[in-house]
Amino acid sequence: MTEKTNELKRRTFLKQGLTGLAAVGAVPGALKAAALGAATAAPAAAKPIVRTLGRTGLQIPVVSMGVMNADNPAVVQAALETGIVLLDTAAGYQRGRNEQMIGQVVAGRPRESFMIATKVPGPNREKSLQGLNGEALEKAFLAKFDECLGRLGLDHVEILYLHNNSAPEHVQNPAIIGALQKAKKAGKARFVGITTHSNEPAVIRATVGTKAYDVILTAYNFRQDYRDDLRKAVAEAAAAGLGVVAMKTQAGAYWDKEKQQPINMRAALKWVLNDPNVATAVPGFTTFDQLKEDWSIVTDITMTPQELKDLRLGEQVAGLYCQQCRRCVPGCPKGLPIPDLMRSYMYAYGYRNLQAAHELVGSLEIEGDPCGSCASCTAVCAKGFDIADRVRDISRLRAVPGDFFA
Ligand code: SF4
Ligand code: SF4
Repeated sequence: MTEKTNELKRRTFLKQGLTGLAAVGAVPGALKAAALGAATAAPAAAKPIVRTLGRTGLQIPVVSMGVMNADNPAVVQAALETGIVLLDTAAGYQRGRNEQMIGQVVAGRPRESFMIATKVPGPNREKSLQGLNGEALEKAFLAKFDECLGRLGLDHVEILYLHNNSAPEHVQNPAIIGALQKAKKAGKARFVGITTHSNEPAVIRATVGTKAYDVILTAYNFRQDYRDDLRKAVAEAAAAGLGVVAMKTQAGAYWDKEKQQPINMRAALKWVLNDPNVATAVPGFTTFDQLKEDWSIVTDITMTPQELKDLRLGEQVAGLYCQQCRRCVPGCPKGLPIPDLMRSYMYAYGYRNLQAAHELVGSLEIEGDPCGSCASCTAVCAKGFDIADRVRDISRLRAVPGDFFA
């Protein structure tokens, strides 16, 4: 897409959707939107709902941006001009290009007008950190974080997360905690946190127990079978002063692989924000229309009876969202990382993000056709997924060169 096209789309979007907030100054966008709303002619625009991110004290509109899948800087720019303040990225997204794109978008903007969260994985996910301990691990982790700052072109971020934790011990590693505290002390990260999208309640409780973190970014959506326990864990974190951010709120975006049945995005987003202990959500969007749709709920998160119905709460629909419950794993004699493969499948078919799917599949220790030697599949999915079919389908991505998606 050319810059001219981007600019045209951006302008059209702003013209159609919102109140011309292009002249964003030193005040964070949403707060400025509220101020402008109050100052302009009737009817007075409703104010964005802004919540406090736990003990960080950061004031953030309930809708933020998960930038992971976005590759159009004009959409990120439009998000900031619309009133979104927090941009959520990670070292690994698009092999660093996601951070670079954000760096280009925020360059020259008043630093206090936006917030950045980025993520660095620990040894449980990052191969180059495996086998390292103590000072060596601390140093290597911090070097990875410095690379993030370099790509972003910033001297600090608001939140540095330890990325992708699925077990209590992942967040309890003393060398990683030491590294995060050093990043904070050096002023490179104002606050530190963890991310989790598997075994979330246990990881959240362990995080609270360390007393070392300020923020938790957790998968949280209406499809999770264990959402009641997750809600309790989130409440415990909030009571301990941690700020909670929700991700994976759209639960796969579609009910079906063929993309014929979209999930009601507004309803899904409102559902998670109806938990008052969630300060903000980071739905991933890639287009101006999706930005408009997500932002449209920022002033009113009341759920209508139809929206509640659309979420099909309590129904055993397979869909694309894997619960990461691991109940299938013991049934696979090869011990395949089925939950990761199913997450990758969701990235490919739900979010249509082949690059993220490719990166995740590529990071797993599996053969080209992992199910090839199995006459029949003995791994049973609690949600009714045809596991072997999905594993075979998604593992084909391993044969595709990474540059193909660049
Ligand atoms: S078919 Fe694949 S997923 Fe199923 S048991 Fe065999 S190796 Fe495991
Ligand atoms: S594939 Fe099914 S059983 Fe396995 S982790 Fe996902 S939802 Fe649970």
